[in-house]
Amino acid sequence: MQRRSFLKTVGVASIGFGAIGTASADPDRDKYRPGGPQLGSPKSINLNAFRTNEELTKELEKIDRKSGRVSLEEIGRSAGRHDPIWEVEVGDGDTVVHLITQIHGDEAIGTEVALKLIKSLGMSNSRRVDHILDNLSFTIVPRVNPDGAMYHYDFDNDGDDEWVGRRQNTQSWSETDSRYRPYYHSTSPGDSPGYDMNRDFNIRPPSEFDPQTDDQEEWWSDQQYLDMPYEGHTLFASGLRLAPEVRAVTESFIDADPDYAITHHHKGGSLYPNSGDGNKPAEQTLMSVMAAYGEEYLDRSPFYPADHEPVTEAVNPFLDYETSTRSIRLNSLVIDALAERGNSVFDSITRYGYYPLWGSYLDGLCPNIANGGDGVAGMLYEVAYQTDDLGQKAIGRQMELTKVGFLESFDALADDPELSDYSVETYFDAPLYGEEVELR
Ligand SMILES: [Zn+2]
Repeated sequence: MQRRSFLKTVGVASIGFGAIGTASADPDRDKYRPGGPQLGSPKSINLNAFRTNEELTKELEKIDRKSGRVSLEEIGRSAGRHDPIWEVEVGDGDTVVHLITQIHGDEAIGTEVALKLIKSLGMSNSRRVDHILDNLSFTIVPRVNPDGAMYHYDFDNDGDDEWVGRRQNTQSWSETDSRYRPYYHSTSPGDSPGYDMNRDFNIRPPSEFDPQTDDQEEWWSDQQYLDMPYEGHTLFASGLRLAPEVRAVTESFIDADPDYAITHHHKGGSLYPNSGDGNKPAEQTLMSVMAAYGEEYLDRSPFYPADHEPVTEAVNPFLDYETSTRSIRLNSLVIDALAERGNSVFDSITRYGYYPLWGSYLDGLCPNIANGGDGVAGMLYEVAYQTDDLGQKAIGRQMELTKVGFLESFDALADDPELSDYSVETYFDAPLYGEEVELR
């Protein structure tokens, strides 16, 4: 089956630096895959622009001390470094937003923006912030992956370890952890083992699924993919919830029982489709967005029914029409908000052709099975670097895009939790992102 070769490619693509444009049995899928290739080189970006774990902790504790509104809690520790995973709660509204950043350790911009956001929500007395806090309640987990965020190794073989960050946490797998070592566990770069944690979630709540006891031999494919049956479907490559960080985020999500869930990522460079006409150079897209949706939107899936796959390869059947529509509208809102900035740089938003990744935060958690299946509208951001601009200016621009997206979303949700003014067509009209470009 095509899926198998696709997943293997993802497994390979996620473990090495410079894995851009990896071949796949299905090039179209590969092109649009979310959470795909990471930055081409760790030197593309100056990590000194970002806070260390210690600095992040200090900053959060400072806000907590000064603000009467914020509640800060350590919800777990990372597998390798045992650094704290923080959760911030703020707001008194009926509409609940769960927001996570930096589940991939080398994707730090979301965390920096989340920190600014927490500071505003915690300390500002503006009418805008009052309005948001009266209507929304936030549970924010900035920097889900402190191990990956701080990852050092001798990338250039000069005898010294460089701070390069990496996608995975730092955690070994042992035979007592699960029946087989799942495909998303790897030992590179840097020869240290770890999980791609956005493949480690499972749709079944912790009370229903323990990786050591609740799987069956026949669910496993190639002794590395857990193709878990669930409610009449097969959820290919489900996660096993082996990372303590993923268990902490899962508990945080279940406790929050949100209406909306947002996750922030980085991506490699890619072109805005059909841009450039021979005289003008092709434009790059600076951000891609993705909604998670269910069977009512199956006919909008770019991957169905081309080869008559099971629906679980094209949509998430555990998201109902209402939830799916809110998810798509949230994405439409961000596309609109950035287009209205009147800056062409911001008007280059593309989308992914969605299909579920059953081990991901969005697809594993948004069905919200632990809370009775009251679906959560999900959104994924990925900000991209441009090949010609990898310095501070680029970081500032990515932060600005993310901040505008977040704040405009919260304004709109505070006004109307259903987002009825936004059209699903805005989302589907946004082009799928174009060809990937090498960063160096
Ligand atoms: Zn990512």
